[in-house]
Amino acid sequence: MKVVLIGVGQAGGKVTQALAEFDYDMGFEAVKGALAVNTAEADLRELDIDTSLIGQDRVKGHGVGGDNELGAEIMQENATEVMGDLDGRITSQAEAVVVVAGLGGGTGSGGAPMLTRELQRIYDVPVYVLGVLPGRDEGGIYQANAGRSLKTCVREADSLILIDNDAWKAADDSLEAGFDRINDAIAQRVGLLFAAGEAVEGVGESVVDSSEIINTLKNGGIASVGYAAAPASEDAGENISVITSVTRNALMTSMSLPDATEADAGLLVVAGHPERISRKGVERARKWMEDETGSLEVRGGDFPIGSEKIASLVLLGGVERSARIQEFMDRAREASEGMAEDRDPMEGMTNDDLNDLM
Ligand code: GDP
Repeated sequence: MKVVLIGVGQAGGKVTQALAEFDYDMGFEAVKGALAVNTAEADLRELDIDTSLIGQDRVKGHGVGGDNELGAEIMQENATEVMGDLDGRITSQAEAVVVVAGLGGGTGSGGAPMLTRELQRIYDVPVYVLGVLPGRDEGGIYQANAGRSLKTCVREADSLILIDNDAWKAADDSLEAGFDRINDAIAQRVGLLFAAGEAVEGVGESVVDSSEIINTLKNGGIASVGYAAAPASEDAGENISVITSVTRNALMTSMSLPDATEADAGLLVVAGHPERISRKGVERARKWMEDETGSLEVRGGDFPIGSEKIASLVLLGGVERSARIQEFMDRAREASEGMAEDRDPMEGMTNDDLNDLM
């Protein structure tokens, strides 16, 4: 799937850069453009991709300091300018636009849903948000910001692909030290997903294409991704159980939103050397995913790559009814209740707003 990436805020810019680098290093060419937008000049200076500094008249390049309403306002005031910077990047080639942001901060949290709304008005292709959920140990303001942002992203985006900052960090990582690891993990998993629809070698009917990714995400709501790999035999027949066990690992232990396997739709992409991928294995793993997710809409396909391993990449669409999301929303609401009204990012949202994600 050919994508244009727009990172908003610090995490958004860093993850966008990691994705663009992964795609470039692997030679996939699925990323057709990458732009980082921020109110903080220092954060943009750290990046090698194209950048756009907004809101200088309001915050003089110093960022919004966790105020996501200000982040949203500045994005709204500068939407035309950002769209101008995007001109030429969202060419007829792009099959989707992906807005990338940390949901717990200020610029990305408020700016990403606002930018998504503007993009939806102008472009015909799907606009997704790739959003990072704050870890449990992060402060109340991050949780409350993310609560509001998650709701607005679900409303504005064609789908919110969610990464929980607790999902992929190592046990002994501090969150800060873990960011690079998490960003690399996001780049690899999401980067492979974009590239999966772009496979050129050994094109056959069983190869995944972009429309399958788009169809898996078409019901909106929240999506998650997971990935696992294992060494494979040269004989495809011996890889049936390899494919079923890596798929089980991907779904049960590696999803970007843990403990959320009930889904509206799913996509299983089995990557590996075309001669090592067993059709029977892919079909068996796909069926298993239908049982496990409770969805009758699980697509399956191959991603032929020159690797000795076999990997399963799992995309789930419509996972918002999970206990994990409920637990997060409770945490966000609790955090917002402890805040003064004028500082509360969730002020003005009704209980229905918060309970009812769809
Ligand atoms: P903004 O610049 O105002 O949009 O704020 P940030 O992007 O710094 O957003 C803060 C949130 O993003 C917090 O929940 C952080 O945990 C998370 N975050 C910040 N930097 C990174 C990063 O490099 N990687 C990941 N995965 N999360 C980050």
